Amino acid sequence: MSAVHPNEPSFRDSVDIMFNRAAGLMDLPPGMQEKIRVANSTYTVRFGVKLRGQIMTFTGYRSVHSEHAEPVKGGIRYAMNVNQNEVEALAALMTYKCALVEVPFGGSKGGLCIDPTEWEEDELERITRRFAYELIKRDLINPAQNVPAPDMGTGAREMAWIADAYKRIKSDDINARACVTGKPRNLGGIAGRVEATGRGVQYALQEFFRHKQDVEKAGMTGTLDGKRVVVQGLGNVGYHAAKFLEEEDGCKVVGIIERDGALVNDGGINVESVKAYIAETGGVTGYPDAEHVRNGSTILEHDCDILIPAALESTINLDNANRIKAPLIIEAANGPVTAGADDILRKKGCVIIPDMYANAGGVTVSYFEWVKNLSHIRFGRMQRRQQESANNLLVDEIEAMTGKSFAAGKREKMLQGADELSLVRSGLDDTMRIAYQNMAEVWHEREHEGVDLRTAAFLISIDRVAETYKSLGL
Ligand code: GLU
Repeated sequence: MSAVHPNEPSFRDSVDIMFNRAAGLMDLPPGMQEKIRVANSTYTVRFGVKLRGQIMTFTGYRSVHSEHAEPVKGGIRYAMNVNQNEVEALAALMTYKCALVEVPFGGSKGGLCIDPTEWEEDELERITRRFAYELIKRDLINPAQNVPAPDMGTGAREMAWIADAYKRIKSDDINARACVTGKPRNLGGIAGRVEATGRGVQYALQEFFRHKQDVEKAGMTGTLDGKRVVVQGLGNVGYHAAKFLEEEDGCKVVGIIERDGALVNDGGINVESVKAYIAETGGVTGYPDAEHVRNGSTILEHDCDILIPAALESTINLDNANRIKAPLIIEAANGPVTAGADDILRKKGCVIIPDMYANAGGVTVSYFEWVKNLSHIRFGRMQRRQQESANNLLVDEIEAMTGKSFAAGKREKMLQGADELSLVRSGLDDTMRIAYQNMAEVWHEREHEGVDLRTAAFLISIDRVAETYKSLGL
């Protein structure tokens, strides 16, 4: 979606402006900056599906931003406002995201101009299978070359259809399941993928709050406990992020912005009950335990500690940036803050945890799923029980030697071998911690040059991609 304000650049230009700010601080070989910035290719397809007695034509895209590492990776979005500029911006963000969190993929993104709520499930299945076919025959879905995943408007169900479409065409490909991630568990999906992006947002915030100095830069003190959160969008990412922060970290969710307005309650709103209310009624209007504000986007400006835009791009823009009160913004969505708004917020001293880091949890767990599919075995299957017997032996010996017993709950915990979910969480947590530490180091070192967290993230990613190109002889 292009930005609302007339002086605002397009989404892709906005990403490029941020990229250029960082690249300008680097000493790249001539031409390298442009090579990295531009999308390698964008494929547009228009295909027909016979539905409701007539041929309906759909327009879809798959953009490949950078093939410095393959396969390239990125979701497929279903929304009416999908366009070439948007998929190219999103594909570029995938390149930088993967490089930053050391996921060995290039960047890609796809989209289909469709309102998924207007179609029945079997119609969506036919449309998805046809779109998948168009991409598969051009190797834009392929376990070694291009691996899609869910994004806005798609989920495990669509990924299952895509995986099956691939398997039917390439029935001799033993790695067929690795052609797409975010699949249901029974079709090669991995534990913890559904909530991975929201979980990643939580881990990112936990790591941020471990860095006292950075918390102070945002004008805050203490831990996540008691921090007031406003979340925009209670879709897969926003819902899980807000729920985990509320249930596990003691945050108070004081505002929830949805399509039909916002809910506000400074005493705290229960995320789970709002989610259930939306599932039942289709929106937040009429939810009993909070005030309803019809013009929901005004609640982005509500007094809070942490603002989590988890919906569309460009929601914090030249129109509202000056009025944003949150001292800390974590970009759970891709591109929620435009380049112009980013300037305004930076000057105000607001700390922004950038999208390419904040929402990298999804692609990180996608990487684990892809590895699982290629190895054809569930994580933990070989080690778990062996680990448990070793732990058992150790605990028994300690008890025998000391003559004391561990408390029952503690003993159980110590004995447990790691299953797939705990390994996925551990891998994701580690990824988010290390990437933050890398960014923070660059931020602190180069703050005097105007480097913030976003620029630090770009500096790291661009450098990694450039190094790969250099090694490849480009
Ligand atoms: N659509 C998600 C993103 O924007 C996930 C991509 C993936 O898992 O490949 O990061």
